[in-house]
Amino acid sequence: MNFTPPKGTDDIFPPASRAWRRALLVWEDLVERYGYDLVLGPLFEATEIFTRGVGESSEVVQKQMYTFSDKGGRSITLRPEGTAPVVRAYLGSGVQGQAKLSYSGPMFRYERPQAGRRRQFYQTGVEYLGTAAPDADAEVIEIGYRYLGELGFAEVDVALNSIGDAECRPAYLEALTAYLEDRRDMLCADSLRTLEVNPLRVLDCKVCAPQLLDAPKAVDYLCASCRDHFDAVKSRLDVVGIPYTLSPSLVRGLDYYTRTAFEYIATGFDAAQNAVGGGGRYDGLAEALGGPSVPGVGLAMGIDRILLAAGLDGKDITPLDLFVVVATPERRETAAGFLSELRKVGLRADMAPEQKSVKAQFRAADRRGAAGAVIVGDEWSDGRVAVRNLATSTQELISLEEVPEWAKSNL
Ligand code: AMP
Repeated sequence: MNFTPPKGTDDIFPPASRAWRRALLVWEDLVERYGYDLVLGPLFEATEIFTRGVGESSEVVQKQMYTFSDKGGRSITLRPEGTAPVVRAYLGSGVQGQAKLSYSGPMFRYERPQAGRRRQFYQTGVEYLGTAAPDADAEVIEIGYRYLGELGFAEVDVALNSIGDAECRPAYLEALTAYLEDRRDMLCADSLRTLEVNPLRVLDCKVCAPQLLDAPKAVDYLCASCRDHFDAVKSRLDVVGIPYTLSPSLVRGLDYYTRTAFEYIATGFDAAQNAVGGGGRYDGLAEALGGPSVPGVGLAMGIDRILLAAGLDGKDITPLDLFVVVATPERRETAAGFLSELRKVGLRADMAPEQKSVKAQFRAADRRGAAGAVIVGDEWSDGRVAVRNLATSTQELISLEEVPEWAKSNL
């Protein structure tokens, strides 16, 4: 039996998982402060949710989906992204009007695996539905930026663009197509194919993009209402102090993506996978799924990449405040009761499941990464215990009631 996980997937085990737990807690706390309610949905959907909701011509649908027939003969796909499923759930819920929704969980794409590019990866995201107002775009962009800030990213570049809407996009696409047709000899085989179905996506090609810097820019073709919308997004970002870089080549190649597109680049990280999150407005998505017209804007943050880029490997996170060491075996039950009290007052505490020598218990405390130890011994009869800081090996005798305070100020 082979114990390695399937290709392109990871077992996220301690200590790495400590950084994950923290990142997910920070996320939930943050989005709750911005007023987003949680949506929990299935990890798989009817395949058409993605063929319609991500788009037939996209690389995800063309090449990367885990699609299979279930025993009832339905075509099922493991979700490659979270937006189309959340919009489906919104449409199915009967809720009308505005909704601020968050989600978090694994996504699946059949990719060529490398660091920061996995076949199962984890995204957290928000979707702000039922409003086309630019304030919603700016708020969503702010959330991702604050999230990275709260996780300790010092350098984040927000790349920002507007790709217009159904009114102004056709003229832009015409100009872009003419420009690309003139340069067919400069395009890679993939881009030549993309040009036929989705010229915008050619700008996204890593191979061709550097040669296409003088391509027509969507922002130069915006109609008056898209220009006003974009100006309002930028000015609201200025108000809340979110820096951004205008990035004319940042595109979302599908019809139902409209106006705002953005991406977070971890600039302090020089690997290829430094795009740690992104999103945009998708005013045509609900209709593409067969629902009524519901405007929306959202973002998805890639947790695997964020932790990789920030170097958060969990090794610096102490998983336990206190390890209870039982020095006199007769006091084992008393110690178990004390342990329970420590946990009740909010300390992360544990003890060995069997009585062993004091030395063995200290070894266990070290192995478990405890910051301190409480030694339950003969002093218990005077209402006291020894407490030890395991990093400095300083030890003192204190009363039982003082333990939580001692832990707070000494560990
Ligand atoms: P997307 O849904 O493609 O817009 O991706 C949003 C974010 O999810 C990206 O910025 C990445 O951080 C992350 N992401 C996308 N695909 C992968 C993958 N295969 N492995 C790890 N992270 C990914």
